[in-house]
Amino acid sequence: MISYLRRANVARVQFLLRLHNQLRHPRGLEVQEVPCPLCGAESGFRVRYRPFLRSPLKVVVCGGCSLSFLNPMPTAAFYQRYYNRSYMEGREDNPRTLSYKQQSEAIASFLAPYIPLCRADVPVILEIGAAHGTNLIALRERLPTAQLYEDEINRRWEATYAQHGIRHWEPHLRADFVVLAHVLEHFANPIAAARRVTESLRPGGIVYIEVPHVPRDYGPTVMYHLTHTMYFSKETFLAVTAAGGLENVAIAEGEVLRGVFRAA
Ligand SMILES: [Zn+2]
Repeated sequence: MISYLRRANVARVQFLLRLHNQLRHPRGLEVQEVPCPLCGAESGFRVRYRPFLRSPLKVVVCGGCSLSFLNPMPTAAFYQRYYNRSYMEGREDNPRTLSYKQQSEAIASFLAPYIPLCRADVPVILEIGAAHGTNLIALRERLPTAQLYEDEINRRWEATYAQHGIRHWEPHLRADFVVLAHVLEHFANPIAAARRVTESLRPGGIVYIEVPHVPRDYGPTVMYHLTHTMYFSKETFLAVTAAGGLENVAIAEGEVLRGVFRAA
């Protein structure tokens, strides 16, 4: 009984420390009020979550279109510094990163029915926010001739990319498959991001987008995450992607939202 209580307390302290690290008021945080990224409304927001009493950050719900987003939102200059310096720090040391492999397998399985649609001899696969590249590597197992490209702001995985022949994306290229796994919820303007994805497709190209499914109540580590600017339901996920020129082909609602799209 005593050892159970001790274990429970250690887990609780570890959880609170992790939460604190993610949510602490980071040095140099700059924020700005933004209009609704989906419908453009400048007022009529209801506060949904407030991370800490002293934090300027809030998650609001737009009264016009019901999109949830951070407002005020950290500035682009702050995010640039944060992603280059602090984001994902220490994540490789966490044994739970083994779950990335399972996540990659789930993505490859979900995309499997769409792979025969690709008629290119040498399919081009682009992953935006590729991180450690495991999603790209899992997809190449199903498309062995594929050329893999990453568009990743954080350059800490350069050696992994070189080892697996993953090249850096160039804007003049066009892709047969584009993957965004837990990336769309990080953009200040997700519609502009979806539009850039649409423009990067070859005719007939397929897009896979996965985001946290907020109505399933992800809990504070997702709801208050400093880098999560958007908090999608199925409805707002489809509205944002449609506004970016993407037509939904398939969607699955679980702990995450998985969507397959093509250019509208
Ligand atoms: Zn709105």
